[in-house]
Amino acid sequence: MVKKNNYIAVVLAAGQGSRMESKVAKQYMSILGRPMLYYSLKAFQDSQVDQIVLVVGKEEVDYCKEHIVDKYSFKKVKSVVVGGKERYLSVNNALQAIKESTEDIQSGENCYILIHDAARPLITQKIIEDTIEGVTCNNAVVVAVPTKDTIKIADETGGIDYTPKRSLTYIIQTPQAFELELLMKSYEEVMKDSNLEITDDAMIVEHGSKHRIQIVEGSYKNIKVTTPEDIKIAEMLIGM
Ligand code: C5P
Repeated sequence: MVKKNNYIAVVLAAGQGSRMESKVAKQYMSILGRPMLYYSLKAFQDSQVDQIVLVVGKEEVDYCKEHIVDKYSFKKVKSVVVGGKERYLSVNNALQAIKESTEDIQSGENCYILIHDAARPLITQKIIEDTIEGVTCNNAVVVAVPTKDTIKIADETGGIDYTPKRSLTYIIQTPQAFELELLMKSYEEVMKDSNLEITDDAMIVEHGSKHRIQIVEGSYKNIKVTTPEDIKIAEMLIGM
């Protein structure tokens, strides 16, 4: 019997987006007439992922179901989960929902999770395909691009501590993808240590396991929309 792989996309849209200076949370702001969240869901809907778990704020579950998931027929969205206070807690909520639903997945099948920020509407099919290929081979991957600028590591006083070799520094994007068991076990470890400041998914696996994470080439266009001018840049890039 051929072993089937299951690929589940977790699309994170439960943030407040406070740097956007807008009353509307940034993932619902309009980009060329459609809510920002539309673009990530559309990319995963059109890809080879089997299902999508959408993570949103408590007050936005019904709105998202009706005005985004149903409206645009995103049939791969199997559940809409309420997010947590921090990004990594939103991912953890999605993992709990996946755990409950993975009873559907036959034992012996491999399950991989692709975690993506709804704030990155410029994700492409190529990035998704490369992420899937990477995670299937290596069990843990992050999409990244080489830094164009020199990176300096500073200390708390703002003084320069040291300068890493530029050819070894990367800007980390999403998706970040992991084999399900590896991610779940890493979460269990990391949740025991409340002092960690977790800013991306890879940190969970870095701190919660010994598994080495591989880099998959991303795109300089795969920007994270954070401030008002990023909306204009995203519109220009989508139109290109
Ligand atoms: O705030 P930031 O831009 O780093 O958020 C990255 C992504 O994570 C966004 O798509 C945001 O909606 C999501 N997020 C979340 N739950 C949180 C914080 C952020 O789903 N508690």
